Amino acid sequence: MKVVTSIADVRHQVKAWHLAGETIGLVPTMGYLHEGHQSLMASAKKDNQRVIVTIFVNPMQFGPKEDLASYPRDLERDKIACEQMGVDLIFAPTAEEMYTPCFNSYVDVNGLTDALCGEKRPGHFKGVCTVVSKLFNITCPDRAYFGQKDAQQLAVIKQMVRDLNFDIEIIGCPIVRETDGLAKSSRNSYLSDNERKAAVCLYQSIELANTMIAKGERSVATIHSAMQLLIEQQSLAKIDYIEFVDLCSLKPVSQLTQDTLCALAVYVGKTRLIDNFIYHFH
Ligand code: AMP
Repeated sequence: MKVVTSIADVRHQVKAWHLAGETIGLVPTMGYLHEGHQSLMASAKKDNQRVIVTIFVNPMQFGPKEDLASYPRDLERDKIACEQMGVDLIFAPTAEEMYTPCFNSYVDVNGLTDALCGEKRPGHFKGVCTVVSKLFNITCPDRAYFGQKDAQQLAVIKQMVRDLNFDIEIIGCPIVRETDGLAKSSRNSYLSDNERKAAVCLYQSIELANTMIAKGERSVATIHSAMQLLIEQQSLAKIDYIEFVDLCSLKPVSQLTQDTLCALAVYVGKTRLIDNFIYHFH
């Protein structure tokens, strides 16, 4: 497995693989890798001859009051996680390699970014789309893998790829969870023992919603207030949002009469956690 930090080195390797007729799967990450990331690598490995993992804590997607400086980083541990999964190349650039001093071009997807995390984190998806476009152009993959954990991100990237004609297949991968249901996340490492116990309330609220839906409940207001009540019982938790939106448009829905994404963001202590589930209308 190669570990490279320069764009030129990635291009050199990618060119050789393409000349040999090999397909490339890309897994973009911010590092501090866990089994969620590894499940993306496993899918990439299955579908492609070569797998590239990028590790880059992208300053552009963090707001001024967010956790850019404290975001967990451990490249040595990440190398082992990638090696285990048979990754061929890690691209771990510096911010200076990605953004030259005169950098001044952006990719901004409208509409889908108005709601949910787009509304709560202004500029976040512009940063995501810009860096993912750059990573696509640097690594020229056949397929790129994203987690359903970041459901809005997946939807936004799919729209960007359609709109800008990137010749790349975008593959969404299921959410990987801890045994108690908490979605795996690099940010879980911020949680104290008590916060970690409290953090299960996100998943519990999803389970509650699914139980209500299984019993026939279709009113979003009713399900929403039950989820809210459950989370508010946790003194360490503070809801940022719980939203039910149409799976394609990400516009709010009031009844479950179409495919619906329920997405939530909850602060547990100072740590902002997200989770979601999809209701499929039959
Ligand atoms: P991040 O390093 O948090 O930016 O995540 C990199 C990629 O891994 C994104 O496509 C995420 O959606 C995906 N990912 C993160 N956590 C999980 C998880 N628990 N299950 C599945 N995919 C995940």
